[in-house]
Amino acid sequence: MVGIDRRRESAPSATVIGSGLGGLAAAIRLGARGYRVNLLEKLDRIGGRARVHEDQGFVFDAGPTIVTAPFLLEELWSLCGRKLSDDIDLRLMEPFYRIRFDDGETFDYSGDIDKTRREIARFSPADVAGYDRYMAASEAIYRVGFEQLAHVPFDSWTDMLRIVPEMLRLKSYRSVYQMVSKYVRDERLRIVLSFHPLLIGGNPFAATSIYSLISFLERNHGVYSAVGGTGSIVEGMAALARSQGADIRLDCEVDRIEIENGRAVGARLKSGEVVRSDIVVSNADSAWTYRHLIPAVARKNWSDRRLQRAKYSNGLFLWYFGTDRRYEDVAHHSILLGPRYRGLLDDIFRHQRLAPDFSLYLHRPTATDPSVAPAGCDTFYVLSPVPNLDGNVDWPTVAEDYRQSIERHLERTLLPGLGKAVVCSSVRTPVDFERDLCAYRGAGFSLQPLLTQSAYFRPHNRSEDIAGLYFVGAGTHPGAGIPGVLSSAKVLDSVIPHANQYN
Ligand SMILES: Cc1cc2nc3c(=O)[nH]c(=O)nc-3n(C[C@H](O)[C@H](O)[C@H](O)COP(=O)(O)OP(=O)(O)OC[C@H]3O[C@@H](n4cnc5c(N)ncnc54)[C@H](O)[C@@H]3O)c2cc1C
Repeated sequence: MVGIDRRRESAPSATVIGSGLGGLAAAIRLGARGYRVNLLEKLDRIGGRARVHEDQGFVFDAGPTIVTAPFLLEELWSLCGRKLSDDIDLRLMEPFYRIRFDDGETFDYSGDIDKTRREIARFSPADVAGYDRYMAASEAIYRVGFEQLAHVPFDSWTDMLRIVPEMLRLKSYRSVYQMVSKYVRDERLRIVLSFHPLLIGGNPFAATSIYSLISFLERNHGVYSAVGGTGSIVEGMAALARSQGADIRLDCEVDRIEIENGRAVGARLKSGEVVRSDIVVSNADSAWTYRHLIPAVARKNWSDRRLQRAKYSNGLFLWYFGTDRRYEDVAHHSILLGPRYRGLLDDIFRHQRLAPDFSLYLHRPTATDPSVAPAGCDTFYVLSPVPNLDGNVDWPTVAEDYRQSIERHLERTLLPGLGKAVVCSSVRTPVDFERDLCAYRGAGFSLQPLLTQSAYFRPHNRSEDIAGLYFVGAGTHPGAGIPGVLSSAKVLDSVIPHANQYN
């Protein structure tokens, strides 16, 4: 690989805490800008929410599976003198998703506009024109919200004031569901067009309509999955970072950010070792970083009280399983809607209680890529949005019952004979998110994507409280999801000086 001379002694140094996609992207960008990077990861493997585990030949991506905005990955590869396609085989999904309503009716959500129009017409011919207008509105938001704002810092009030007129013009005070409802009348189509915030931890009834830009992003740039799984992207990014000289250390939990005279000067590991550096970039959850890695006296803006009052995304219940047979007619990405939409979301986000019903995302990567399972088998995971740890659900007690009710539901709907076909199985709950990933409140996606928690109102990429400390990942601007966290690393190029600007 093309890269800088390995770890030039005189170059300024950066400590990156965490190897999520945001941390890896930061390591690549900092390496390309001349920094010597030490990346410290708590777990025994890289990737954070995107890490991989294997069980009896089944390969499980733990988290992200829907790859959008591939041009952001392409940028990272080109910074290192390579092409994304040299290392990663991305496959366009068709359909993007298959959505199954509780009565068994399905909607294929496709990148092909005519196919999607036909699906819309099958449900409600009168809504086809509204769908076209909705996509035009989504594009207008994308042009501003993504193209102009996702990769720029929001350091000051003036940065925020500058965008207020545009935000008002685009009516970003509306929720995604309110916006969709202006354009289509059929309740099922409103669900099909509004569920996207759930992919990044937002309630469609509360998330700012800025997030309806996802509809245009997907249609214009495609929805992909990587051959070998998202894990191949994680590995590819780690190889790029190393080619720039980064040292990636596993099993290294940071328990304190070292601060001297109000400036971050390194990180102390649980083992007691101190890694000193010119700057520190935290890819650990921003709320966790402020709450647990920085003493309260050093934080003017992010007090414990403010962190406690912020609104965090939902939690996730995940069941990873392999089957000794294939379910050929199940799509790569399926969404199984339950009997309730708004009521279920209210239970998850407002009442924070575990409902007996659920809506599920089912991932079957073997639909596209049989290499991630033994021959003749299928790899799956199923995800159910649940309350985060504010919900006081006793997960160790209820997890197995909850898993069984999901299994019964899948057996009744898409996967007949599932109970007998399962050959390996594991679950993760919000408790695991908190313990393994240091996710504040066990939230799946850090802070919720609300207007009042966006841009200037999110923990800044350049810390407001501590000089030399920066943030990347889901808990900073612009937010969760692969495009979000890759964009957060891009913001660093605007707020961190180039290595050659040091004396
Ligand atoms: C189940 C699931 C499915 C998803 N599906 C999609 C999808 O299909 N498409 C999409 O675009 N997005 C999806 N997302 C969202 C997306 O995966 C995340 O927003 C993104 O991967 C988060 O990246 P991050 O950079 O914030 O880092 P994280 O993945 O949160 O990683 C942070 C890292 O920091 C480490 N760390 C934390 N504290 C410390 C410490 N003190 N010391 C050292 N290391 C520490 C953690 O161990 C972890 O490795 C999904 C998320 C989940 C959970």
